[in-house]
Amino acid sequence: MGTAMQIRALSPAPVAFLAAVAVVGTGWALLLHEPGSGALRAGLGVVAVVAAGIGLAHRRPTPRLAWGLHLGALAALVTGDVLSWWQREVGAEPSPAVHDTLFVLGVGALGLALLARTPEPTAARDPFGPLDAAIFSVGAALLTWTFLVDPLLEGPPLSRVDLAWASSQPVMATVLLVLGLRLLFGTATRSPTVVLALAGAVVLLGVESARQMVEVDGGSPDAVAVQLGFVAAYALLGAAALDPSARDRLAPPSPAAQLHRWRIVVLVVTALVPPVILLAQVLGAANPQRDDVVAATAATVAVFALALGRLSLLVGSVQTRTVQEGEDRFEALVEYSTDVISVVDSEGMIQYVSPAFRTALGRDPEGHVGTALRRIAHPDEVATLTTHLFQAASRPRHSTSRFETRLIAADGTIREFEVVAANLVGDDVVDGLALTMRDITDRKTLAAELSHQAFHDSLTGLANRALFADRVDHALHRRRREPQCSVAVLFVDLDDFKAVNDGLGHGAGDALLRAVGQRIVRCLRAGDTAARLGGDEFAVLLEDDTIDGQSTTIANRILDALRVPVPVGDMELGVVASIGVAVAMGDASTVGLLRDADIAMYEAKRAGKGRVCVFDPAMRDSASDRLALQTDLSVALENDQLRVVYQPIVDLVTGLVGGAEALVRWRHPDRGEIPPDSFIPVAEQTGLVVPIGEWVLHQACRQAAVSGSTVGVNVSGVQFAAPGFLDSVSVALAQSGLPPRGLTVEITETALMADTEATAHLLDQLRALGVRIAIDDFGTGYCSLAYLQRFAVDVVKIDRAFVAELDGASKGDRLAKTILQMAESLDVTTVVAEGIETEEQLVRLQEMGCRKGQGFLLSRPLELEEYQLLLRDHLPEVGEGAAVAAS
Ligand code: C2E
Ligand code: CA
Ligand code: CA
Repeated sequence: MGTAMQIRALSPAPVAFLAAVAVVGTGWALLLHEPGSGALRAGLGVVAVVAAGIGLAHRRPTPRLAWGLHLGALAALVTGDVLSWWQREVGAEPSPAVHDTLFVLGVGALGLALLARTPEPTAARDPFGPLDAAIFSVGAALLTWTFLVDPLLEGPPLSRVDLAWASSQPVMATVLLVLGLRLLFGTATRSPTVVLALAGAVVLLGVESARQMVEVDGGSPDAVAVQLGFVAAYALLGAAALDPSARDRLAPPSPAAQLHRWRIVVLVVTALVPPVILLAQVLGAANPQRDDVVAATAATVAVFALALGRLSLLVGSVQTRTVQEGEDRFEALVEYSTDVISVVDSEGMIQYVSPAFRTALGRDPEGHVGTALRRIAHPDEVATLTTHLFQAASRPRHSTSRFETRLIAADGTIREFEVVAANLVGDDVVDGLALTMRDITDRKTLAAELSHQAFHDSLTGLANRALFADRVDHALHRRRREPQCSVAVLFVDLDDFKAVNDGLGHGAGDALLRAVGQRIVRCLRAGDTAARLGGDEFAVLLEDDTIDGQSTTIANRILDALRVPVPVGDMELGVVASIGVAVAMGDASTVGLLRDADIAMYEAKRAGKGRVCVFDPAMRDSASDRLALQTDLSVALENDQLRVVYQPIVDLVTGLVGGAEALVRWRHPDRGEIPPDSFIPVAEQTGLVVPIGEWVLHQACRQAAVSGSTVGVNVSGVQFAAPGFLDSVSVALAQSGLPPRGLTVEITETALMADTEATAHLLDQLRALGVRIAIDDFGTGYCSLAYLQRFAVDVVKIDRAFVAELDGASKGDRLAKTILQMAESLDVTTVVAEGIETEEQLVRLQEMGCRKGQGFLLSRPLELEEYQLLLRDHLPEVGEGAAVAAS
């Protein structure tokens, strides 16, 4: 705040004005040498009045009264000079009384102007104001007495009136000086206008005093220096009104500014005046006047007393300010701290609690004073909180302890706090435990979340791979100690999950994975662990698996639970999974057990998906076999190891063979016949399924054309989605000459789901060719009525899993019936029941109105020649039969 004392630079207008007056005044005085005429003083005085008038008219500063008085004062002073000059000019005798009256009026108005500009001093803001003013006054009064009034009294005797006039001016000078200093120290800013006005007043009074002394000593009061002094005073007063800072609002100084060193310097100097004068009188004069010494002594004593008073006031003020500042700071710390600060007694009764109590707990701080802190503690914490407080209170004084506790907020939520308790029992001010309580709920929650995240899958909330491996580790350790408890790991892999993700989007995929997670958990017992290992891979750890075979039961339970359709978006999806089971044997390692479960899961997929497979050491070999299989398969086509067999499709009413399904076969040079279930998944993985499928398509079309039969060709999802599929179909039809109606493309539901737009388009194009579309393995994939409606298929093939369960009462029965009804309502022209193995199943299907079927009961897949023989021998009207199958 010390900068408040800075004086701003003068602006150009008053500087130019002052310079002009100085140049003109000095020039005039030097060149014309006629100071006695008063023309110089009167002329430049008028110029100053005009300048001040212009300044005020232009700036309109406030307070209006103060500036009015200022202008009036200047005008009165200059008018006196002009009158004197004019009287001299016309040869009349100048009248000092008029001049002096105007001078007194001018000085009085100037004093009032200074007073009116001084901001209202508030006792609180400047308690030293009156004391300082008194010190200045005493100093100034003594000076005036000693140098101005006393010489008058001791000089040649004057008339009473003259004496009164003469002595009134020093008195006014004193008053003006005090008022000026009051203004100087009573404002926060040092405006140039204030400084100019004060300088003007000081110069005016100084020159007047000098003039008087010169006069008393018998010199000429009209000396050049005196005249120029008056000009300077008028110029300064005019400049004060001309400066832009005239508009400044003067504010009282800040408490800090009151202690400013300039004020102290002025005070000290003034306070030293009386003793110095006293000393001068005692030492200087051979015979000092008694009354002079008395006056100087009295002034010295007065100043001394005042200075002492001021000193004690100052000390008090500094003290209170320091204490206040400290208290303010402490209070702000407590009031604005986000930590809850509380004082409790050793019984835990709240004596004080800071406002943060409301923000942290939504509770009213005042309302809880006098209640026990444990009343808002979590029920589980009451006992420990009481103990903590008791312990804190029994520790040595001023020592702190730290603990955590949970408090209940007004809205019922539980917040965790870290508490630092300082034992201030017996302290003068606090006398209790000072508790600083920091809300660490968010920190704790975050920490818990982070550690949960590190070990859990964010999508399903199940354990992740790391935690799962850890749990398996623990289980295996325990098994080593307690051999009776067994450990099993289940690997659950969703079949064709990629199709859901690609077809319905990741949102649907995620929803499905979450549902799968929940269902798996529901199938488990309390001690078991479910985990998501990534993608569509889940795992389960079964412990205490005492009853043999329980793991398979649970695995099957999971499969069943997943098959129940899950609502995803606006449709329902049933999930098919393959599960591999591995039971720990000997001293199984975690890595080994997980790998075995993985191998078993792969076997389950290979065996036709949607099933459970228990690990058997032989599978380990088959896993390495797969690699070999891949290499061998890549050369199977060019080495003529593949061929196509045909399984007749029979009309269940007439018994006629209408067509067949083409099934690929691979005769491995070393391993003999390999079923498609074993190598098609491998071919799908490597992409080999595309050339193989194309080869089968060409083969089947050509042979069907030759046999005059219709044919169904299996198309893998990979092949279907590969570019150029449509072309290869039309080329196969064109090259073979098979009528398009003679070809049925068999696609699984799941394959249809990938990229529905493109699929729908492709299906439309196939149908435009005249090719028929069949949905294969219906009911085992992500079956959806919506899809059937959308794609408008021609044939639905009921999966053999349902046919196998046809016994009049089972689920398979109900499902087969539903599929038949649905097919009818959806204009599906043909329903083919697959895998009919028994008479009973055949009869049931016939009863249900199923028109077509295939299965070992009717015929195993046949070599081409056998099939052709069958057609020729058993079907005299081949063309007719084909037509039947096609309708
Ligand atoms: P799929 O399309 O469901 O073919 C019918 C499968 O059921 C054939 O097995 C057939 O031999 C078998 N089957 C027929 N009747 C019965 C029965 O009464 N009982 C039992 N248990 N099974 C019966 P296959 O030939 O081993 O083919 C298995 C799967 O391999 C086929 O299932 C099909 O998905 C795939 N596949 C076969 N050939 C090809 C092909 O050329 N291309 C593609 N992409 N996949 C093919
Ligand atoms: Ca098929
Ligand atoms: Ca099938």
